[in-house]
Amino acid sequence: MGLHMEIDPIIGKDFLCAECGQRHTVGIKYIEEGNINKFCRFFKKVFNKDKKKVLLLADNITWEIAGEKCKNSIEKEYCVLPVILFPEGERKVTAKQEYLAKIVKEASKADVILTVGAGTITDLGKITGNIKNKPVVCFPTAPSMNGYTSPVAAYIKDGLKLTIPVTPAYGVFFDMDILKNAPMELIKSGFADSMAKAYANADWKISSMITGESFCPLPYKIVSRSNRRRQSYPDGGELLLKRDTQTISELMQTLNLGGISMIIAGKSSPASGGEHLISHFLDMYAHQHREEVFAYHGLQVGTGIFISSLVYEEMKRLTVSEIERLLSEVKIDYDKHFQTVISFFPAGADMLKKEFDEKMRQIAVLRESLATNWEDVQKNAFTMVYTPERIAGIFKKSEIPLHLREIAVDEKIIYDVIMLARFIRGRLTILDIAGETGILETVAQKYKELSS
Ligand SMILES: [Zn+2]
Ligand SMILES: [Zn+2]
Repeated sequence: MGLHMEIDPIIGKDFLCAECGQRHTVGIKYIEEGNINKFCRFFKKVFNKDKKKVLLLADNITWEIAGEKCKNSIEKEYCVLPVILFPEGERKVTAKQEYLAKIVKEASKADVILTVGAGTITDLGKITGNIKNKPVVCFPTAPSMNGYTSPVAAYIKDGLKLTIPVTPAYGVFFDMDILKNAPMELIKSGFADSMAKAYANADWKISSMITGESFCPLPYKIVSRSNRRRQSYPDGGELLLKRDTQTISELMQTLNLGGISMIIAGKSSPASGGEHLISHFLDMYAHQHREEVFAYHGLQVGTGIFISSLVYEEMKRLTVSEIERLLSEVKIDYDKHFQTVISFFPAGADMLKKEFDEKMRQIAVLRESLATNWEDVQKNAFTMVYTPERIAGIFKKSEIPLHLREIAVDEKIIYDVIMLARFIRGRLTILDIAGETGILETVAQKYKELSS
């Protein structure tokens, strides 16, 4: 039986897209499910004998869960160099540049990089693979995010959360017993991250209509086709909490498809919109001002999804003339906003300035063409997203935090997070449309009054 009806026909393929007319190359060659003890069989299929030396990257936790077993499974056939990361100045290892030097150095001796872990290890491994030009294979230990199959990797560098393009993994092998028994917070995180797609695709669609940025409908099409076929996605919260095998398996496939949709797009847009900017802002804030992150990536994204849903809801009834009126009435002190951003992240001032300048160019275009395109934007993008009530219902059932307060974000910065997240990246999202029309201010004010 095929692993996945949407993935099977495109994996490892180079094809002319019937939707956008461009060529898409899905470089990832193998995605397989199986028992960890059979991992060697998979590995041999992916790499023949000329790739002898394998750098196995894990952290202190994932080594225990699966790293050592992976090593045992392949060490008769391959020479395995384990690199096990231990937390440095934090409670858990996170994707920071500080860990890279050691991994990169060891990678010089290896032919292949095998990551055994979740987001952190996968991102560090993919970045290393990119620097050293070595193929990467991922062994996920949790269905916690879509990075196993994606062509990007995120990490903290000089206090900034960067998302960089990387070569996707060559193969992904997962064991459902391990994924099912992953920490519940990681499972919830993956589920919340997967819910971002609707908003991310809608934001991307809007940006394409306003700025002319390239857009391909295929990612959203295959994702929604796949959702329709699933029994428990996205309403099976109680099944998720019970670690139901079918539900976790569907979640993993949804995440893998999310990563592949980024390969098709050639960028993170189909999986990352305004809701991710909220999460990136929180990561950067935590890095500079706290000992640890607020919550796992997907859970932070979940709070961003709810904020995006409130913004979409607030904007959906606006008419063209209201948009025109708001654009001319609302005055924004961009310089003040930018200074506040810099005061949060002084170390990243130079790079943030570049993003800000790009954002200002996009805003100029937006102010020119939003009203003209508004009806099309409503018709084509607003129909892609869920209402705040639906999101609240789904998250409640799966016990996923809805409000920033629930992941311990200080009341004092909540307003700034909502108002300023849009300025940390150059690309256009719903947060910009809302910002320029004053709707973001309305949402930020109302948000404070919402109970958790
Ligand atoms: Zn296409
Ligand atoms: Zn994400």
